[in-house]
Amino acid sequence: MNSIYKYPRLYLNARFEENGIITLEKEQVHYLKNVLRKGTGDHLRLFNGMDGEWIARLGELGKKNGEARLEERIKEQPTDGRRVHLFFSPIKKQRMDFLIEKAVELGVTDLHPVIMNRTENRKINNSRVSAQVIEAAEQCERLDIPVIHDLVKLPQALMDNKELSLYVAMERENGASSMANHSYAGDYGFIIGPEGGFDDNERALLLSVEKIKPVDLGERILRAETAVVACLSYAQLSIT
Ligand code: SAM
Repeated sequence: MNSIYKYPRLYLNARFEENGIITLEKEQVHYLKNVLRKGTGDHLRLFNGMDGEWIARLGELGKKNGEARLEERIKEQPTDGRRVHLFFSPIKKQRMDFLIEKAVELGVTDLHPVIMNRTENRKINNSRVSAQVIEAAEQCERLDIPVIHDLVKLPQALMDNKELSLYVAMERENGASSMANHSYAGDYGFIIGPEGGFDDNERALLLSVEKIKPVDLGERILRAETAVVACLSYAQLSIT
């Protein structure tokens, strides 16, 4: 393996150019200095979601911030622009952490937290979710950071995305087809119900929208976060 992949990889919200000096945030300096034991002259990889991925060399690392010089772009920013949306109900803390991390690893570009009738956790901690999204993107070598949309109720989410091809995971639904019956090309999204499932009104609403196709994930009832992983894995691996 090329040794550059051993360099720590961090996201920075700043524009990059060759030889540019960029400022690292306090938490990043702490992580590099105290956790990874890196110092002046060591290399790292940086991405910003816009300018690809770069090799940079650490300059001074102070107590509150630090600097790095951008040396060379090693990856171009992809331009394919495909969007993969995930509409999910906020669930309990650790399960939600898992859901967010796996959705980012499996290529979701747009995270839509949605309040459904049986949603238990009706709030979302945006800064926590945002930190998890960035950490997962850093770890899985993505070059973009997924968008976290505002928390809205289900009818509003459907209204706001009425042009999108959507698949709703629905257990025990006679009209639901296998994931294998669809091709996941272009932009699309999945809707996953809350822990208690969709209620009858939501099922009727979802099944009444032409652009929404119900899909079946097998005979077992999966937890919401498992259903997320199942849908995204299948769709991602089926794209040739
Ligand atoms: N409380 C519901 C029940 O017992 O029937 C189960 C809800 S399940 C924990 C949460 C969500 O995962 C569902 O609303 C659905 O979107 C998805 N899901 C779980 N298992 C599924 C399956 N076998 N097929 C399709 N969707 C599934």
